[in-house]
Amino acid sequence: MMLPTHAVVGLALAAPLTVIAPDVSTAALTGALLGSVFPDLDLYSGHRRTLHYPVIYPLLAAPAVIAAAVVTTPLAVGLAAFLVGAAVHCRMDRYGGGLELRPWEGTSERAVYDHVRGRWRRPKRWIKYDGSPGDLLLLASLGVPLLIVLDGPFRLIVAACLVVGTTYVVLRRRLAAIAPTVFAYVPDRLAQYVPERYRP
Ligand SMILES: [Zn+2]
Repeated sequence: MMLPTHAVVGLALAAPLTVIAPDVSTAALTGALLGSVFPDLDLYSGHRRTLHYPVIYPLLAAPAVIAAAVVTTPLAVGLAAFLVGAAVHCRMDRYGGGLELRPWEGTSERAVYDHVRGRWRRPKRWIKYDGSPGDLLLLASLGVPLLIVLDGPFRLIVAACLVVGTTYVVLRRRLAAIAPTVFAYVPDRLAQYVPERYRP
């Protein structure tokens, strides 16, 4: 799924705390937002492998959530939310498409790398690929209610996710078509940072 969908899912997970525990909800929303986008910082270096830990994040998240429920400090809540966000991100990547330039073709069996088992997990394609109509539907069905529930900077972030995500979905197939041409102009010394699937 695309990054705006990951971000909105993270915010949706933490949103109930605005009612249940408003004094730590800012920490929870911030942690969940950062955690839900953090794994994709590996986009240009070993994407869905370097910062994606589908087993380890959940293992760390479970005790962190228990600790946060006990001590309820903003730091503990923020850390737990970060780990939950990162764990959910990696799980979502499994429910999407594979790692390839045109994921709608469905030829890649690489969804996310499992460091514990030492192999790639296969994509389930419940959401066919990142930037698909189904991806947009998920983004909108969470994002629109969040626009009402959240306020301040979080509302702005959700609005930005909806705009960026919708634009990405509209352009998704065209971007895949022009990517190899654009990346062909990348200087040799930077070529290692271009994802393999974009190399001409
Ligand atoms: Zn990812």
